[in-house]
Amino acid sequence: MTTPDLSVVFPLFNEAESIPTLIAELHQALDRRPWRWEMIAVNDGSTDQSLEVLRAMRSEDPSLRIISLERNSGQTAALDAGWRAARGRYVVSIDADLQNDPADIPPMVDQLEGLGVDMVIGMRANRRDGRWKRMQSKIGNAVRNWITRDRVTDTGCSLKVVRREVIDRVRLFHGMHRFLPTLVRLEGFSVIEVPVNHRPRRYGASSYGAMNRATRGLIDCFVVRWMSRRALRYRTIEE
Ligand code: UDP
Ligand code: MG
Repeated sequence: MTTPDLSVVFPLFNEAESIPTLIAELHQALDRRPWRWEMIAVNDGSTDQSLEVLRAMRSEDPSLRIISLERNSGQTAALDAGWRAARGRYVVSIDADLQNDPADIPPMVDQLEGLGVDMVIGMRANRRDGRWKRMQSKIGNAVRNWITRDRVTDTGCSLKVVRREVIDRVRLFHGMHRFLPTLVRLEGFSVIEVPVNHRPRRYGASSYGAMNRATRGLIDCFVVRWMSRRALRYRTIEE
């Protein structure tokens, strides 16, 4: 395959039921555009039929690539594996559980190109999670912005589009998928937020509970704050 314009990466842990619909929806959203594109499914040590489903779909769909991690390594590790494998000029990340809507991808890519920014991230306009989870997100985003001194409305939204150069620069750490926009800005790249659709989880359950988000997340906030303070900021004027 020649270099694709677009790579769509989706990390997945036990999402067998969602995969066929996700892939069909991606085709529906992207095939009508003149882009060459590829899908990269990153199977993060699933213990259900996810891998079998993916393999069956790949036998009929050459645009699907599968990466399998040895064991469940976490969403950021899975995203990183997908990022490293991506060959496109633009790289999209999306959840595999159908909560994000692939129809949002083309306008996001248009904005990346049209506005010349480096990253476009979704903010879930009509959040379709329970009240308890929405409240956690609201507090989480507020605390994160306060500590890291950044302004991001919804870092938890996985639907994001970045330029290849961003991926080559940004180094990820465990749990840091929640701080992506801040880490990207730290490297001097521009990030904008656009409203996107959100849907209820149709199958299975979320991998996260309130506690693991809150405790780990708080420590990470201070780490990212430290990183922001210590980031190298200089401009060369002669070589
Ligand atoms: N995921 C993953 N590895 C993990 C946990 C989650 O690849 O260890 C994937 C999961 O399958 C989904 C995405 O990351 O595609 C987001 O996870 P989830 O829907 O559980 O999170 P939530 O939407 O509740 O924040
Ligand atoms: Mg989800």
